[in-house]
Amino acid sequence: MNNVERSFWELSAMVEFDITIIGGGILGLFSALEIRKKFPNSHIAVFERGILPQGATSRNAGFACFGSLTELIANVESMGEQETCSTVEKRWRGILKLRHTFEDLDIDYHQLGGHELFFDSKNIEEEISQMNEMLFPIFKNKTFALNKTKIKAFGFNKTNQLVENVLEGQLHSGKLILALQKKLREANISYFSGAELTGHTNLQDGLEFEINHQTTFKTQKLILTTNGFVPNSIQNVKPGRGQVLITNPIHDLQIKGCFHFNQGYYYFRNIGNRILLGGGRQLDFEGETTSDFGLNDDIQSDLIDKLKTIILPHTQFEIFKQWSGIMAFEETHKTVIQVLDKNVVYAMNCNGMGISLSPITAEELINYI
Ligand SMILES: Cc1cc2nc3c(=O)[nH]c(=O)nc-3n(C[C@H](O)[C@H](O)[C@H](O)COP(=O)(O)OP(=O)(O)OC[C@H]3O[C@@H](n4cnc5c(N)ncnc54)[C@H](O)[C@@H]3O)c2cc1C
Repeated sequence: MNNVERSFWELSAMVEFDITIIGGGILGLFSALEIRKKFPNSHIAVFERGILPQGATSRNAGFACFGSLTELIANVESMGEQETCSTVEKRWRGILKLRHTFEDLDIDYHQLGGHELFFDSKNIEEEISQMNEMLFPIFKNKTFALNKTKIKAFGFNKTNQLVENVLEGQLHSGKLILALQKKLREANISYFSGAELTGHTNLQDGLEFEINHQTTFKTQKLILTTNGFVPNSIQNVKPGRGQVLITNPIHDLQIKGCFHFNQGYYYFRNIGNRILLGGGRQLDFEGETTSDFGLNDDIQSDLIDKLKTIILPHTQFEIFKQWSGIMAFEETHKTVIQVLDKNVVYAMNCNGMGISLSPITAEELINYI
């Protein structure tokens, strides 16, 4: 079937677009919807190489978060206070936009709060109060608070302090993608799956691009939201693999909400009465700087150990599934929107908070089209 000749119908209506997005993750899908708002009559298409999206969005942990206390302290160190506040403000606006775009029920959104576990007894009250002051203009309230009673209620081991943030939420990443795809259909945006971009060539008027090495399309603008599958010309973005596991249902599970420890290197949450746990990249940064999916045995063993020794020390559990996802990192933890040549733009949220950032990055991307 590779060299089937084109019909008149295909040539006249099906192979030319005004704006084409490559990548069917949350950023690609939100971007398509934003582009539709600005260009109500344009022919817009999204091409995703997997039958299901194959990057981070359908393989992540489903936290709708804007950063734990220690993650934000680390952000202040790397980006400064102003940039950190601006990023937190965007993440928060992104969460509000998600909830405005979808019914909570459709994406299984639950605002069960975020919690950070501390294993030492170092006094962190000063750090909490400084962070609350810094974030006050955004949240108009105290964002973080110590809550020791929850350590016992959740049954955690080795944990000396717990910092709570009631604003953090969790959602179902698979349902989020389906809800976004439904919005695309309603907005009359074409969506192709199993369709990998394998090349493109500039033309006088727009460009020609090739899908699966076999089918050629034309477009005026090509937007790459391929995240950890970074185009060769982008030097400052690296892929990062993340390891995740989920347990079988646990009888009478008391743990509800989102949880972080070690500056966000570990994160876990309940999904109904299961625990999803991810992280551990710091154990093998080099090995996990890859865009190849795959389980890292050492990190997966470490995750199981964390379940046994910290999270579920008194509970029998079984692992239901282990998987990996590919994200992207920029050295300074900033969102990247870069024009590759005049009609091609690459955009990526950076780091592990694309759920909250994508709705806003999609708005920013519009300025490049
Ligand atoms: C393990 C893990 C846990 C995470 N947990 C959270 C979390 O709890 N909360 C949070 O906010 N963020 C989390 N993240 C990060 C978040 O998932 C990402 O920031 C977000 O999903 C990025 O969305 P995206 O659309 O930019 O990229 P992706 O979802 O990676 O989408 C890119 C898409 O491009 C497609 N693609 C690539 N190359 C081509 C090509 N040549 N042609 C066609 N298609 C192509 C891929 O198949 C992929 O579907 C996590 C990430 C991982 C990996």
